[in-house]
Amino acid sequence: MKISSLSQKIINDFLTVLGPHSNRVDLHEPEFGLEEKRYLESCLDTGYVSSVGAYVTEFENRLEKFTGAKHAIAIVNGTSALHLGLYLAGVTFGDEVLMPAISFVATANAASYLGATPHFLDAETETLGIDPVALENYLNNIADNDRGFTINKLTGKKISAIVPMHTFGHPVKINEILKIAEKFNIAVVEDAAESLGSFYFGKHTGTFGKLGILSFNGNKTITTGGGGAILTNDANLARSARHLSTTARLNDGFDFYHDQIGWNYRMPNLNAALGCAQLDRLPSILQRKRALAEAYKSVFSKYSELKFLHEPVNTTSNYWLNTLKLFNPNEKLLNELMVELNNSGYQCRPVWRLLNTLPMYKKNPCSPLPIANMLAKSIFNIPRSYRLWKK
Ligand SMILES: *Cc1c(COP(=O)(O)O)cnc(C)c1O
Repeated sequence: MKISSLSQKIINDFLTVLGPHSNRVDLHEPEFGLEEKRYLESCLDTGYVSSVGAYVTEFENRLEKFTGAKHAIAIVNGTSALHLGLYLAGVTFGDEVLMPAISFVATANAASYLGATPHFLDAETETLGIDPVALENYLNNIADNDRGFTINKLTGKKISAIVPMHTFGHPVKINEILKIAEKFNIAVVEDAAESLGSFYFGKHTGTFGKLGILSFNGNKTITTGGGGAILTNDANLARSARHLSTTARLNDGFDFYHDQIGWNYRMPNLNAALGCAQLDRLPSILQRKRALAEAYKSVFSKYSELKFLHEPVNTTSNYWLNTLKLFNPNEKLLNELMVELNNSGYQCRPVWRLLNTLPMYKKNPCSPLPIANMLAKSIFNIPRSYRLWKK
């Protein structure tokens, strides 16, 4: 099969950066060692594998220390953390929730589980996240004020929350978004699922809003198998998050007394044990991902067709997923590259389909999406690992 000269050039540079290899190079590979085995074995030995146990508390304490959040609550996965987080932020049936059109489907689904309507926003080229300038203009156009709350005058529905997402680990302009949200009295719930280890002006992502969430799915920076967390600085919200994620049971004695309809959303001890071992290696993972990103940045700097996306100014990105961007949006070229790079043993993928184009969300409210539509035809993810990923 003859491949294009651009694909060939990229493949040669993958080889330079990632080194020789016999297997296909995946987009992500989790990293485990002896510590993971030891921690998991100790759960099996003690019998504490399920929803209580010392590792859950340890994992939460260490997440608080690492992120600087006053409270971290370990949850079964990031989607459930977002579901509960939006509930705690006050999102209820019939509301609208603002979120980027460029995100994983979980962001929209979590709002839908509450009977709320996802309302999609445009992106910005530097961060790939919500564009604060476009957001403010848009809200000035569509927002009505009803007794201090913001109503979408086109639908008559209350806009109760906004979910900024830190795309591929690159921090969004969260301070600007917070200011706008405050002006319109809209709660901020950060989707920091991809950004453990990413900082905005030195402050960890997920700790700016009323609540934030993390994910520890197998493809994230560190994994607990399946897992997530809610971050908040508000002691009352933290107490409610703990209570509601453990079936809203009031005491630990004999009595099965539940004072609300709760969820069974707390992270099991087995998963938290894996998480504690993974947190031990997080600094090393972040350091190697940064080194890999620097190497990519350097080889791709000489291209006239595309560039490597580096962290936005005043931020530290965890470089969860490495991203190339075509200077000229070109869907056909993007598709050709995806086929040729994947066939050559390098797993690459385009960004998610825009959420507003999925069948269940195609009638949902949307701001104009010129940048998101352009980005969907120009960006793709490249492998985040191999030689540099290994120690
Ligand atoms: C991974 C991810 C989630 C969901 O996390 P899970 O743990 O897989 O449920 C939510 N939002 C974004 C942006 C993600 O990338």
